[in-house]
Amino acid sequence: MPLRIEQDIFVVRQLGREVARAVGLEAQDQTRMATAISEVGRVMLAGGPQAEVAFTITSNGVPVLEVAVRNPVPGDAARLAPQLGQVGRLVDTMEVGDEENGTVVRMLRRLPASAPELTSERMEEIRADLARHVPGTPLDELSVQNQQLIAALDEVRRQRDDLARLNAELEETNRGVMALYHQLSEELEETNRGVVALYAELDDKSVQLRAASEAKTRFLANVSHELRAPVTAIIGLGRLLADASSDALTEEQGRQVELIRSSATDLLSLVNDLLDLAKAEAGRIEPNWADVDLKAVFGQLRGTLRPLVTRPEVELIIEEPALPALRSDEVLLAQILRNLLTNALKFTAAGSVRLSVRPVGDDIEFVVADTGAGIPPELHERIFEEFYQVPGSTALNGKGTGLGLPYARRLAGLLGGALRVESAVGEGSTFTVRLPAS
Ligand code: ADP
Repeated sequence: MPLRIEQDIFVVRQLGREVARAVGLEAQDQTRMATAISEVGRVMLAGGPQAEVAFTITSNGVPVLEVAVRNPVPGDAARLAPQLGQVGRLVDTMEVGDEENGTVVRMLRRLPASAPELTSERMEEIRADLARHVPGTPLDELSVQNQQLIAALDEVRRQRDDLARLNAELEETNRGVMALYHQLSEELEETNRGVVALYAELDDKSVQLRAASEAKTRFLANVSHELRAPVTAIIGLGRLLADASSDALTEEQGRQVELIRSSATDLLSLVNDLLDLAKAEAGRIEPNWADVDLKAVFGQLRGTLRPLVTRPEVELIIEEPALPALRSDEVLLAQILRNLLTNALKFTAAGSVRLSVRPVGDDIEFVVADTGAGIPPELHERIFEEFYQVPGSTALNGKGTGLGLPYARRLAGLLGGALRVESAVGEGSTFTVRLPAS
């Protein structure tokens, strides 16, 4: 459509709106397009003799309405561009460019996905409709513009109301969140206060516990120490009474004296064990760190334990240690192994009791394995408690005190290591002492 006189600006505005409507743009976009075209037309016409508006549909995946307004004034872009800044906001893209024989303002607007398909028949139809288009008077156009303005103002008011409502909702939500936050922080503070109080109580309790445990240890140490002398005296006196050089006893008296002696001997070993344990618990045992000669330790164990192997069905195997040096306390280590081996011999009716040693990483493990009665898994920790003995387990020789394992575990701890057990009923037991090598 050519633009020659001012009147044409109204006409092209109407035409622009018609085109926008025909190709499927929505009402607001129709107004935007019409406004952009009439504004570009007005600016162009104000400085040049004439112009021309062309509407094209291009499609590169998405169909686009392209409106090109051109005049035959070369180099007019410099004049036009600064005046069209606002217009660019009404369309998707706007370019002002100089061409060989004139200047062109090109505006693009993408068509919505809901727009009807623009087949060539539909395009023909649109062209025919537009050709029949009878332009209204400027007054008509003014009234249309007024209506559009009213609609736009309505829309603005509606959006402002929406915004106010949203703001109110947001404020409400914020208030809720703040209230929740305060409530949570109060609850947290409350909980924290509770936890702090609990910790203080726990500290008190553990101080009391430590004091009680120290008192127990002191008591055990003192009592067992005080008992040792009289019990030793009873054993000595019993021996004297039974001695051949003393006055002869009746058979019954002899039996009773022997009973007193053996009870006193049991009592002495209990007292000795208690004293050992109390000393270990009170931290009164200081390891004497030195290079340990394992061959010598094992040799000594072989010698002292052989007399305990009273059954031909049981074999005591103390392997040759094939290890480099170990830094530890020889006496305490021998004591631990002796306790474990004595136990193994006590609870093994047939098979073997074996002591071996092996390096594991930076540590060394001593393993005492037997083929005896075994210990049910639920009692694996209890046997390390003082005086605990597996119910129904009967020692094959000698009565125990239930203090050997707790003592052995204490000593292993003192040497920087640990003592553990693996065992199942009927499958024997394996006690392992793990110590640092240096
Ligand atoms: P004691 O041997 O003097 O009874 P311990 O503390 O050495 O005390 O052992 C506690 C208990 O653990 C034993 O009474 C016994 O029931 C069980 N026990 C220890 N070693 C073995 C073992 N090698 N095989 C089976 N049971 C064992």
